[in-house]
Amino acid sequence: MAVENQIHVSPNTLFGIAVSPGVVIGKVFLVDDPGRNGRHLYLSQDKLEEEVRRFKRAVGTAEDQLAEIRDQFADRLNDYVSIIDSHILMLKDGMIYNSTLDIIEKEGVNAEWAFEKSLDRARNIFSSIDDQYLRERFLDVEQVSQRVFRLLAGDENDPFADITENVIVVVRDLSPEDTIRMNPDRIIGFVTETGGRTSHTAIVARTLGIPAVMGVDDVTQTAVNGDEIVLDANSGRIVLNPSRELCEKYQEYQRQHLRYTEQIAFYAHLPAETIDGLRVQVEANIEMVGEMGQALQYGAGGIGLFRSEYYYISRRDKPDEETLFEWYRELLTKMSPLPVTIRTLDIGGDKSGPAITLPDEKNPALGLRAIRLSLKEREMFSVQLRALLRASAYGKLQIMFPMITSMCEIRRVKEAVIRAAEDLLRDGLPFDDDLKLGIMVEVPSAVVLADHMAREVDFFSIGTNDLIQYALAVDRGNRHVAHLYEPLNPAVLRMIKQVVDAGHDAGIEVKICGEMAGDTLYLPILLGLGLDGLSMHPLAIPYIKRMIRKSTAEEVESLASRILLFKSVQEVHAYLTAYLPKHYPEEFGTERLERLLQTCCGDHF
Ligand code: PEP
Ligand code: MG
Repeated sequence: MAVENQIHVSPNTLFGIAVSPGVVIGKVFLVDDPGRNGRHLYLSQDKLEEEVRRFKRAVGTAEDQLAEIRDQFADRLNDYVSIIDSHILMLKDGMIYNSTLDIIEKEGVNAEWAFEKSLDRARNIFSSIDDQYLRERFLDVEQVSQRVFRLLAGDENDPFADITENVIVVVRDLSPEDTIRMNPDRIIGFVTETGGRTSHTAIVARTLGIPAVMGVDDVTQTAVNGDEIVLDANSGRIVLNPSRELCEKYQEYQRQHLRYTEQIAFYAHLPAETIDGLRVQVEANIEMVGEMGQALQYGAGGIGLFRSEYYYISRRDKPDEETLFEWYRELLTKMSPLPVTIRTLDIGGDKSGPAITLPDEKNPALGLRAIRLSLKEREMFSVQLRALLRASAYGKLQIMFPMITSMCEIRRVKEAVIRAAEDLLRDGLPFDDDLKLGIMVEVPSAVVLADHMAREVDFFSIGTNDLIQYALAVDRGNRHVAHLYEPLNPAVLRMIKQVVDAGHDAGIEVKICGEMAGDTLYLPILLGLGLDGLSMHPLAIPYIKRMIRKSTAEEVESLASRILLFKSVQEVHAYLTAYLPKHYPEEFGTERLERLLQTCCGDHF
């Protein structure tokens, strides 16, 4: 993909967040913000009743439209149906709905003005909330309101209905509902000013495979309807009115990218085996049962990490045992006979939701998080364990516990599992009594005690996302210290080696499920360190399999031994800069490698 490096930044280039990959070239289709014209009208008393009715009608139509979209696209949406349901509920949320009706009547104003005023108040309240998850939910409120504004302006139509040629939609904000209705034959990508990787719209775009860049400041002010636009959703940039030369380069990049992804798809269903016969398990990280199809499509040999918290943080109430059981059972039945590793709740830190009350903490990453919360909220934990055990009768389940720091925690989680098993025996419910229990190794104390812990559990999975954060004392979400968050720090690599050795000495499997596992840059080292399995985002699987199939165990082992001798990140980078292009020329042209390693941190080490 050398052409990627020939594309320099042009003055018409704007940057945002790449949320759904792909490269497309097309015409701008600019969508206005309808109805938000800020018109403030005073109405006479006799008009107020009709104004209230007009607002109620708009909200009612919005509800009908959303319900229709939900039903019409249910199979496209899978688990995301709950996103639309939550939007329907928001329409009638008292803070905005009742308040708007109140303002119309008390202040004698038009519905648009009253609605905007209620939204402003709610926006102020949300912006002062400490909890990031709740703060971000206001984005959803804004998206639902957009539909109501559109209806108040008398526009009942789908904003994308008139599109007849290939376009890239440019819009301030886009709701998941509008995204789901996009016709991918016509709308080949989209750009928004708001949102980010974890917004619901981004999730839907990834599920549907629509290339998208979000969070591009002022793009609706800069782009003009009909302009030519390049959307490079691999790197998060867009180019407006590119020069002919640049456009040709992007067309070439697009062709190469397509060829590359087609070529890569071929590797999805080949075994993850080196040239000299070393096999590793390549699995997928998913958060929702609906993502299982994508995991299988991209060749996952199992689910290496099911992050079970999504079902808790996306809802107002905690799911009960029956609901959890049904989700887990579906996952296990459909994946059977492939293994599924479900991690118990990892809430706290950067993840929370309305169903879970967390204390106000100065350092949430070091606070009541993950297994600590489960061991405190015993009822919630035992509901999840009972649901998991019941589901274990339907496939090959492994249960994994997050953020284990001590032997005492291992003892307590095992006691909790035994209690749940005894309950089920008493109730006459079946479960797999040979079920494997494992832990995430993601804090330094677990690394240091790995030899003892390995004798207490059936497997280890190294969570490098957190391990790097805790080992290097670098907040994983803090951009001010992002340059210090370095997977190739020798301290991190030595820790991985220590965990692999401790696990293997005790005869258990050691896998890795942090982001590192899905990055081709780290693959040869991780293979060489002796990991038995790698779990990653489904889309990364074919790339990683291809790299594995180009490697030999002997070479990667000697690479890892060599790298473990280095003292600094710079030494590791320098060695890889020579090694990777030589052994994997197709994946790593020198320029690409330099770019990948450019975070190398000068004086910091
Ligand atoms: C990790 O910490 O590496 C991990 C996989 O878990 P999460 O990213 O969910 O914390
Ligand atoms: Mg983690």
